[in-house]
Amino acid sequence: MKICSREYRLGEFERYCKEWIWVFGIKDWTCSYRYGANVGCSAEVQYNTKSRQATLLIPKTRVKGEQLRLSALHEIWHLLMADLTTMAEGAVSGDRVLCEEHKIIARMENYIKKDCVAKKSKGKKKGGCK
Ligand SMILES: [Zn+2]
Repeated sequence: MKICSREYRLGEFERYCKEWIWVFGIKDWTCSYRYGANVGCSAEVQYNTKSRQATLLIPKTRVKGEQLRLSALHEIWHLLMADLTTMAEGAVSGDRVLCEEHKIIARMENYIKKDCVAKKSKGKKKGGCK
């Protein structure tokens, strides 16, 4: 059976998400994967902290392989902070919480990018760094 490239891309995104879920030991969420991220987003996560259901989405437009992997990581970090974020949104505006959440994620993304560059320069390509 031929798998069309769109289906493959969603499967690839799901594999990346599951890899990061395993890396961070996230065991208390039931995740599903589908197309439908908002225009302009490379990925998106929607969750309910009470039901512990999360949906990870990618757009219908094309996202390149490494970007797809990093987008999966970005969304899994959102999921990792979901309980804290939800609690904080009760105290201050959701926009302010999301802004602070993105500051933390940007620092972690910068670390990952620097780590990949360091591994590349030493010729120790590991962990999917390109
Ligand atoms: Zn984000």
